[in-house]
Amino acid sequence: MTLGPRIGVLAIQGDVREHVQALESSGARAQTVGSPTDLDEVSGLVIPGGESTTMSLLAVRDGLLDPLREARQGGMPMYGSCAGMIMLADRVLDARPDQQTIGGLDVTVRRNAFGRQVDSFETDISIEGLDDRAFPAVFVRAPWVESVGESVRVIARLGESSGADTIVAVTQGPLMATSFHPELTGDLRIHEMFIEMVRHYS
Ligand code: GLN
Repeated sequence: MTLGPRIGVLAIQGDVREHVQALESSGARAQTVGSPTDLDEVSGLVIPGGESTTMSLLAVRDGLLDPLREARQGGMPMYGSCAGMIMLADRVLDARPDQQTIGGLDVTVRRNAFGRQVDSFETDISIEGLDDRAFPAVFVRAPWVESVGESVRVIARLGESSGADTIVAVTQGPLMATSFHPELTGDLRIHEMFIEMVRHYS
C-alpha cells in the first residue's frame, strides 16, 4: 500500500482534531500546522471551522499569514470549512474591519449569513463529484457564498427544501471550500475528495 499524502490542518483555532481524524481515516497522513516550518512539511492544508476573526488575528500575531499566502500562491491545495471558507475568500461581507484572509478563492462570502437565530442546522444536500448519496451537511453559524468569479465551480447549493438556492460549496483549481462541517458527520467523502485534489496537484 502506498502512503497517503501528508496533509496539514491549520492549528491556530477551531476544530482541528476532528479534521486530523477524518483525514487519517480517509488515508492521508495528517499533522497539525502551527508554524511556517510545519507548513513546509505538508503538500496540502485544511483550514478548519472556528472563528475567522480570531483565526485572522492569531495568524497575523504568529507570523503565519504571509507564509500561508505564499504557500497558496505557490499552488498548495487548500480546503477551508466554514471559518476556513472565509479565510480562503477574496471578499468577505460582514467582516470585522481589521479581518484579513489568505484569499485566492474568487468568491464573495457573507459571515453568519443564516442569521443568529439559525445558529446551527443539518440538512441533506447533493454535491457534484460525489456519488448519488446525499451528504449530511452540518452548518454552524455558517457563511454562504454570495457571488463567484468565472473560474469558480459551484459544487453544492442548498436545495429548495431548505428554502433557498444558496451556494454552500465551491472549488477553484487546487482550492475547495464548504460552508458546512464534514468533519462532524463521520461522512468522509469531502475529505477523500480533497485528498484526491492534493494527489492531483502535487
Ligand atoms: N461565524 C464564524 C466566523 O465568522 C464561522 C463559524 C464556524 O466556523 N463554525 O468565522
